[in-house]
Amino acid sequence: MLIQQYNAEIAVESQRRVVEEYLSKVPSVNSIDKSDLESLKARITSELASKNAVLIAHYYTDPLIQQLAEETGGTVSDSLEMARFGSNHDAQTLVVAGVKFMGETAKILTPGKRVLMPTLEATCSLDVGCPADEFSAFCDEHPDRTVVVYANTSAAVKARADWVVTSSIALEVVDYLDSIGEKILWAPDKYLGGYVQKKTGADMLLWDGSCIVHEEFKAKGILDLKQIYPDAAVLAHPESPDSVVSIADITGSTSQLISAAMKLPNKQLIVATDQGIFYKMQQSVPNKQLLIAPTGGSGASCRSCASCPWMGMNSLQNLLSCLEQGSNEVFVDATVATLAMQSLDRMMTFKARHLG
Ligand code: SF4
Repeated sequence: MLIQQYNAEIAVESQRRVVEEYLSKVPSVNSIDKSDLESLKARITSELASKNAVLIAHYYTDPLIQQLAEETGGTVSDSLEMARFGSNHDAQTLVVAGVKFMGETAKILTPGKRVLMPTLEATCSLDVGCPADEFSAFCDEHPDRTVVVYANTSAAVKARADWVVTSSIALEVVDYLDSIGEKILWAPDKYLGGYVQKKTGADMLLWDGSCIVHEEFKAKGILDLKQIYPDAAVLAHPESPDSVVSIADITGSTSQLISAAMKLPNKQLIVATDQGIFYKMQQSVPNKQLLIAPTGGSGASCRSCASCPWMGMNSLQNLLSCLEQGSNEVFVDATVATLAMQSLDRMMTFKARHLG
């Protein structure tokens, strides 16, 4: 397991270098002047219409991309809703602004449509840290356990699993499996897995993966911020460390955090998730003050780096280019897709039956 963890860390580090190199070549959107920006948006809008395409963006992408998705009849949502929206939409081409596993999930749910992404290089530390062959060997070592994987995994890992879950339904699914006497093998996020284990009391064996964005939130920094804003509520994504989740008023998925922001009476909200979520959250609570949870602790140079480098690889420029050239199409091997669909389908059926 130690070797496995070491390999996963090397893989994540090498991916970070790829991201840094890529981003150094992409002009920052902020460096585009207003008229160029409007022209870029107009060209993307026109391409979407002429190619019968719809833009589907994740909450963590650049606010300009989220805004364009909304303005052009697309959507901004979490990974599963992105895939569901695409499969129900009339468009024949889905343009998925997010990271690799989101494009794959959209393709698995909608095999008859063309799925394009602004970049195929954007991935996720959870996906990178859980290679399918090593994960499969791990599952083989524990045949007595039901394999439950988080949505942030490759199609091949989903294909090896019995269940796929999102952070919004993980508790319910594991609670149900525990109630029928199943022992769980959970992957890849150890923090989300630990949170679910603590809440449900289920027998869970955890893979050692983590999100490089959420694991940097620091409880000490949040408590310091609470000294300045004593009435603020703390909202945390369960990919954050236990020390952060344990001081949060609300723990939940991206959609659940936005909904909690609306329901809570607090005028200030300290948010421990990628700050891309502020675009939609602020729309929902225009009169509340949103504060990003500190990530570095008081001695560190980075105080709020809550921004996924892979999500940051999506830009208006590469969005336009994938539409113009029909490039970066997502393909998933048919056998892998069929098996992954079974695990995804279990979750969707469970949701329809138990949660409506
Ligand atoms: S924020 Fe974390 S979990 Fe989400 S895509 Fe980035 S690395 Fe993956």
